[in-house]
Amino acid sequence: MNQSTKYVFVTGGVTSSLGKGIISASLAKLLQARGYRVTIQKLDPYINVDPGTLNPYEHGECYVTDDGAETDLDLGHYERFLNVSTSQANNVTTGRIYQSVINKERKGEYLGKTVQIVPHITDEIKRCVQILGSKSEFDFVITEIGGTVGDIESLPYIEAVRQMKWEKPNDVLVVHLTLIPYLSAAGELKTKPTQHSVKQLLEFGVQPDVLVCRTEHELTPSVRSKVARFCNVKLNAVIQSIDAETIYDVPLLMLEEKFDEVVLEKLNLKNRRKPDLKKWMQFLDRYKNPKHQVKIALVGKYVELKDAYKSIAEAFDHAGAANEVKVDIKWVHSETLTERNLEEELGDVDGILVAPGFGSRGIDGKLTAIRYAREEKVPFFGICLGMQCAVIEFARNVLGYEKAHSTEIKEYTPHPVISLMAEQKSITTLGGTMRLGAYPCELSEGSISYKAYGEKHIEERHRHRFEFNNDYLAAFEKAGMKATGVNPDSQLVEIVELDGHPHFVGAQFHPEYKSTVAKPHPLFQSFVKAARKYAKSKDRAAVAE
Ligand code: GLN
Repeated sequence: MNQSTKYVFVTGGVTSSLGKGIISASLAKLLQARGYRVTIQKLDPYINVDPGTLNPYEHGECYVTDDGAETDLDLGHYERFLNVSTSQANNVTTGRIYQSVINKERKGEYLGKTVQIVPHITDEIKRCVQILGSKSEFDFVITEIGGTVGDIESLPYIEAVRQMKWEKPNDVLVVHLTLIPYLSAAGELKTKPTQHSVKQLLEFGVQPDVLVCRTEHELTPSVRSKVARFCNVKLNAVIQSIDAETIYDVPLLMLEEKFDEVVLEKLNLKNRRKPDLKKWMQFLDRYKNPKHQVKIALVGKYVELKDAYKSIAEAFDHAGAANEVKVDIKWVHSETLTERNLEEELGDVDGILVAPGFGSRGIDGKLTAIRYAREEKVPFFGICLGMQCAVIEFARNVLGYEKAHSTEIKEYTPHPVISLMAEQKSITTLGGTMRLGAYPCELSEGSISYKAYGEKHIEERHRHRFEFNNDYLAAFEKAGMKATGVNPDSQLVEIVELDGHPHFVGAQFHPEYKSTVAKPHPLFQSFVKAARKYAKSKDRAAVAE
């Protein structure tokens, strides 16, 4: 398309957690379905350079891109909705902005000027937004601004939006996501918080063009016109975003509200092409009308916080829909899982996934779950730390290396079956120093993984410091645990599988990051299929009894 890149900013008002990420991804999906090339970016107003060092309790999952950026979990939604890879440029934090301004200052690039929030920080923000547009790769850059309007820390971002709108009036549009609460005592939807939030934006010089209103009840025509009148937006630019059954419904709800049309109209774009959402609808149809059901235990230490495993849960939805199976996740806390409650916790599941993680908390529960999966032949999938635990469990209980461990947890174990990667040994800082991003892997023909992918050469994303210790490889393989995926350059073991087990797969990488609605991940698909087979065999056994 031969026109300048359009920039859509999405801000949030009234409260946090209104779902700016999903609204941004839904708008992007609709524009993409009309043939536009779209990317989405998240600006996070915190001082950490990236979320890589954040505890999941603070910020949920850390999502990793192909180029090895540790990013906000919203980027996962962007990729899952659009099936387009993101990169470091798609997630910028205040920490990163300041780091780059300070680096420039140290190099003398400001030529003796006083370096200030305006214009230097705001210029850097604008630069980070426009980098994505400058490559002419995209017709639309949708930029989601984290936090809520009025927060001290998001002020420079709002100022940058104001400037960009002033500089490019025909190419910039502001969408403000806000809340219309329902007061049950009064039996009414209330517009005042939205009015105040728009006033606050106006104080900073930004007039939103479109208001997306989160609500638990349908907006009445009078509520819509009140919002329009008091917030200076046209009636058709008041978009209702009612609570949805699933996040994957949101693009369709936005389509009904003509959100994309309003955006195009405001940016003077004439697009007569109707959005092609055929594949999306097919996915939704399968997702909502499953023919079968499986229960899969997700064993991890953050299970009370579902956001910590966001991409895994979504990957199950994609793989489930592709196989017409509803995947019911049973969240099992690795810290409280013991021999005593093992049967109660895992006796009713059709598959066991042991989650990624760091540190010693919950390791024993993970090892217990893996032993159960291995001995009882329950389909097993271990991801990153989950794979490493599968190696430790096998070393202890099959190879008889009683004290085998990962050196992450026991530095001086006599059997370091998982140990620090050579390249990690000299690293002393924590931020951005893991083995991150996409690396190639070669699969062994005949393995479960090879069958799942249907190809020999794959590429998957990583986030770890420790690895399978190849000194032990021969002993493992002899006893039945095979390295079926290996990095061709470093010989690092990327996948282990177990002989004589229906489905026992451990992956050092994170397959969940690459699963999208359009491309459910092969390893999740094969795990779900194995769980389905296991469930069927259990049913048959029950009938026979
Ligand atoms: N803590 C392990 C490592 O650093 C596993 C990391 C993970 O599960 N992402 O190697």
